[in-house]
Amino acid sequence: MTDLTRKALGASIFYGWLTFLWWLIFGYAVPVWLTDPVLLHQWQQTSGYLWVALTVLVLFSYRGCLLRWLGTDELLRRQHEDYDRLRIAAAVFDSTREGVLVTNEKGQIIHVNRAFVDITGYQPEEVLGFNPSKFKSGRHDTAFYTRMYQAISQDGHWAGEIWNRRKSGEVYPQWQSIRGLTGRSGQVKHFVAVFSDLSAIKRSEQERLQLAHFDALTGLPNRLLFTERTTEAVAAAQAVKRGCAVLLIDLDHFKNINDSLGHSLGDLVLRSVAERLSGLFASKLTLARMGGDEFALLLKDCPQMIQAAGLAQQVLDAFNAPFLIEGQQLFLTTSIGISLFPNDALSAEQLLRNADAALFKAKRRGRECYALYTEELTLHAQQRVELASELRRAIEQQELRVYYQPVHDLTTRRISGVEALVRWEHPERGMVSPGEFIPVAEQSGLIADIDDWVLRAACTQMRQWQADGVPVSFVAVNISSRQFSSGDLDLQVAKVLQQTGLAPAYLELEVTESAVMSDPEQAIEQLHRLRELGLSLAIDDFGTGYSSLLRLKRMPVQKLKIDQGFVAGLPADDDDIAIVQAIIALARSMSMQVLAEGIESAEQAAFLYDSGCQLGQGYWFARPMPAAQIDWYKAPDFGLTPV
Ligand code: C2E
Ligand code: MG
Ligand code: MG
Repeated sequence: MTDLTRKALGASIFYGWLTFLWWLIFGYAVPVWLTDPVLLHQWQQTSGYLWVALTVLVLFSYRGCLLRWLGTDELLRRQHEDYDRLRIAAAVFDSTREGVLVTNEKGQIIHVNRAFVDITGYQPEEVLGFNPSKFKSGRHDTAFYTRMYQAISQDGHWAGEIWNRRKSGEVYPQWQSIRGLTGRSGQVKHFVAVFSDLSAIKRSEQERLQLAHFDALTGLPNRLLFTERTTEAVAAAQAVKRGCAVLLIDLDHFKNINDSLGHSLGDLVLRSVAERLSGLFASKLTLARMGGDEFALLLKDCPQMIQAAGLAQQVLDAFNAPFLIEGQQLFLTTSIGISLFPNDALSAEQLLRNADAALFKAKRRGRECYALYTEELTLHAQQRVELASELRRAIEQQELRVYYQPVHDLTTRRISGVEALVRWEHPERGMVSPGEFIPVAEQSGLIADIDDWVLRAACTQMRQWQADGVPVSFVAVNISSRQFSSGDLDLQVAKVLQQTGLAPAYLELEVTESAVMSDPEQAIEQLHRLRELGLSLAIDDFGTGYSSLLRLKRMPVQKLKIDQGFVAGLPADDDDIAIVQAIIALARSMSMQVLAEGIESAEQAAFLYDSGCQLGQGYWFARPMPAAQIDWYKAPDFGLTPV
């Protein structure tokens, strides 16, 4: 073997091994030596090719045995599999539609995928190194996050709905699962959060709900939602022992519009009607389109039928103005059926059915009117609604008058003070008594204006009497229970006193027992605030309102007015005698003054005086009259000598 041949053989073996090791490690062979021209030339000359080929052939054919012998084949196979798995995972990681976020054990973001960028709007470099709290929406409280961290640390994972914030600031819902990944030591090394954007699902859910519950043409709640709300309203009304009402509103002869003008114009009419009615009641009531040309109104709090009737009248009035549809003026009318809970029906279903029956009645009656389910009530309701609207006008037209009824001191028999009593001087009906219009005013909310007006007039009159030197020590003004529960009565009274210049000591306010009893705690508070103004307080119609003695003791009241019902039976009726004497004793024991109302005879006056009653008021002394007619020096004698 020549020197050259030996060298070539050595090089061949060396390069052969090198190639083999390369292949062993990297899985493919690169015959580097093939590119060396000097070597190639030498091998050509010394049949080096043969040696190289031989070496390589031997090594290659025994590669399998060799690898097995060396124990590296399994290792290699696993390495390949891991490599493939990694490639697949990377592809999945990047192509999945779910956002993926990986943090280290400190909670710093170390990896995000493409979907994360798409969903959140953040680029990887804007979030890497940050804590995921960067995406907090502020919609969840700390307790929510504490529960989440607890679940991850105890169970290793958490999944649930969470609201986060996109880069744009938009808050959106996502379904997120978070898993802790432990390292070899068993310690959590990474946290992987996978999430999907739920906003589209939520939106479609919302759309589905919208479609199921709202009318597509008008956007109003539909029959289904209206029925649901009526059911809720009935349950709530039952719980608080209040009433509620349903009004079914049906357009008169709507079919003619559809037939003559076409359905698309008919749709425009329905939309205009919906708009007008919505404008009328804003968001206070539930207005729904029940289908076709039928609308419905739900009045959740309706203690009396007059409220529902008043609302129906408002709807009827709203149709007085024409509807402007594509340049044409259309005059429409409507009929309304009213049903009340609990008077007419005890369930939502019954309420709707009865409102429908009432609607049928209204149609039969000639349309453009309303009807109540209970027939007899309709006329009564209509009269009261008319009265309310007339009363509104009466206040504006200054048709109200204040009459004064003297209150006599039973000892001196002289006038001690007066009670202001309102009257309505109706242009056609003459003097209307408050017994007729005060309840209507209370139900329609007009009472506030009336009481304020009477208070102002009475205070002004009292100032005038004082200026004229009239010997009168107080003017008493009635305050409605509605006013009394409004809360700021003391402020209103203070304002009137200040504006009229009357010293509070000359004013007495009369509240009924029932006004106090409807909300005793609030009433007692209000009474104290009024008392602090420096005026005095009287309980009117005492004996009719089941006052508890304990409560009475806590009230800063200076006077009890025995109801005229008990005085009427005097001096013959034993029960009335017992009650009147008990009230007098009670008032005395509480250091209150006592006044008997409705004294119509000298016997009654004498009996009351004898029983220790200090003040008396009634037709026997004087009727309510205009201020100018009072005879201040009249002292009627009821036969007993003053003590
Ligand atoms: P009230 O406060 O108990 O007033 C006494 C009522 O008894 C008055 O009726 C008076 O005219 C009447 N009366 C007085 N003496 C006699 C009598 O000897 N026999 C009979 N049978 N009746 C007598 P009026 O003026 O019709 O007032 C009725 C009720 O209307 C009042 O009862 C009061 O609760 C209410 N009222 C009157 N004016 C006002 C007011 O300005 N505001 C408020 N909220 N209520 C008022
Ligand atoms: Mg009174
Ligand atoms: Mg009274």
